[in-house]
Amino acid sequence: FAKSPTIEDGVLLVGTDSSFAPFEFLAEDGKNFTGFDMDLIRAIGKELGYKVVVQNMGFDATVPALRTGIVDAVIAGMTINEKRKKFVDFSDPYYTSGLIIMVPSSDTTTKSIKDLEGKKIGAQVGTTGMFRAEKVPGAKVVTFANAAETFLEFQNGGVDAVIQDFPVVAYYVAQGGNKGRLVGPKMEAEEYGIAVTKGNKELVAQINKALASLKKSGEFQRIYKKWFGE
Ligand code: GLN
Repeated sequence: FAKSPTIEDGVLLVGTDSSFAPFEFLAEDGKNFTGFDMDLIRAIGKELGYKVVVQNMGFDATVPALRTGIVDAVIAGMTINEKRKKFVDFSDPYYTSGLIIMVPSSDTTTKSIKDLEGKKIGAQVGTTGMFRAEKVPGAKVVTFANAAETFLEFQNGGVDAVIQDFPVVAYYVAQGGNKGRLVGPKMEAEEYGIAVTKGNKELVAQINKALASLKKSGEFQRIYKKWFGE
């Protein structure tokens, strides 16, 4: 095998799970990764003088990939939480998120998470949505490898509801996933951060510096507006 490129070579290896629109997904050409996170990490790379090389993997593989040094950083709509902080370090938060329930539009009775008790809930493995679903009394939680598979099963009527990150569900519905109805309110104020291998203080500092400078120049706001509007 050829030796993987390293930071010393000016290459930042970034792990992501590319089925998480609008944060990371495959562009229509079927080759390039696009989305808010992708634009952001490329802008950060540019600030720091790194060539960004994105490696696609399952979301549940991203933390192990950092721990074994397969990638330098992970940007994957990853929620900063205490559990993950035991294994990885995080940049400053870059996006405020939260969870939402989605039920089929034909379900006109579900009004809150209480109504999901004893129901079949679909969630993506290893995510905060899955952990939230597991707390619903009597619920059967069915997990899927990624958001796209979760939505597919939802469309096929295989689950009564989905619990997933609000912006991802909202994007899915806006893109014509019109079999879904959102049940508010948003749960669990969450913030996304860029994760790096635990102890890599230098890279965290570099990323935070780049984030701050992108905010100062207005480039961050431009990218935000491109994907989320106002
Ligand atoms: N924000 C959620 C989490 O961190 C989901 C992330 C994802 O599926 N890419 O668990």
